[in-house]
Amino acid sequence: MSALRRALPRLSGACRSARNQQQWAPVRHFSSSPITRANWGFVGLGQMGYPMARNLRAKVPATDSITVYDVNESATRQFAEEASSAGAGTRVTVAKSLQDVSRVSDTVITMLPQPKHVQAVYQEFIAGGLEDARPRLFIDCSTIDVKTSLEVGSSIRVLGHEFVDAPVSGGVVGASAATLTFMLGASDSIVGKAQPILEMMGKRVIHMGEPGTGIVGKLANNYLLAMSNVATAEAMGFGIKLGLDAKKLASLINCSTGKCWPSEVNNPVPGVVESAPSSREYQGGFGVSLMSKDLKLAIAAAELADAKLVLAEPARKLYEDAEAHEDCKGRDFSVVYKYLQLASK
Ligand code: NAD
Repeated sequence: MSALRRALPRLSGACRSARNQQQWAPVRHFSSSPITRANWGFVGLGQMGYPMARNLRAKVPATDSITVYDVNESATRQFAEEASSAGAGTRVTVAKSLQDVSRVSDTVITMLPQPKHVQAVYQEFIAGGLEDARPRLFIDCSTIDVKTSLEVGSSIRVLGHEFVDAPVSGGVVGASAATLTFMLGASDSIVGKAQPILEMMGKRVIHMGEPGTGIVGKLANNYLLAMSNVATAEAMGFGIKLGLDAKKLASLINCSTGKCWPSEVNNPVPGVVESAPSSREYQGGFGVSLMSKDLKLAIAAAELADAKLVLAEPARKLYEDAEAHEDCKGRDFSVVYKYLQLASK
């Protein structure tokens, strides 16, 4: 029995029984055949979802169709206008409701902010009736908690459809350039179907294991990122206060054992890395509120397994305080460096 199943005995029972019931018949998601058409659904055209859906539209055969939905109508309108000005190709339809998406689509991709949005969207899909003979594949790329993902997946599988978790790493830049890394939680029989779909929106697909493990991988990575960002901000902060030149200190760290993504690529000290958000008033990048959310999800995931996290609590408070500070909210998560400087004045 896997660690995830041991951590969630009631849910994993539901997953297993749903898997036994399902009769997954292959449908064409993506081929060069002009005869069969595939219908795609995409829900959540935000900072990440919009460019992901755009890449999908550009790569599926022109005979396919895409149905999009977002509560923000200006996003769907813009998506449809962009598709039409790009000329002949995949037909884009703006759905009037979530149920219109799930009714017509063979594959549905969701990219939503939080667990409550994912829950609400999938409840609507189910309420719209998924009980016809056509099996569908649902791919949730949102970063949510393990429990919600497993619960939603079970409620879909029990109806004879497939659901995989495929959260991403790579940010808005990776979503636009189709260079995302997907962390896939899926049963072995679905990997071959999900992988080519994800590869239209990203560069790497790492199959982590059974459903739920993609989310666990994503949360473990973001926990580490949250910590290394704080540690970099603190180390740079005291080094500079003791008289070191910021760029010299960063170069030393980056050819020594402290090197990490925040020290090398996303250095929190303005002027050290010109392309980093810190060098443009912390604009753009990965929002401090998203990091705060992911850290809380990681803490909840660790609690499922009774895994002790000694660094989590002070970091959680730091991100929450930075998020609430007038000069830091809405900025890249590296803004914790600025917050620490303001707080220590
Ligand atoms: P976002 O807020 O920009 O986009 C979310 C979209 O979902 C919005 O357009 C919103 O209108 C739509 N939405 C919300 N509720 C809906 C509903 N009920 N029905 C239909 N549409 C609905 O968020 P984002 O930055 O695109 O992030 C999406 C997910 O990806 C989050 O879980 C986030 O943690 C994760 N993520 C984000 C980044 C990043 O750099 N932004 C990187 C990796 C992962």
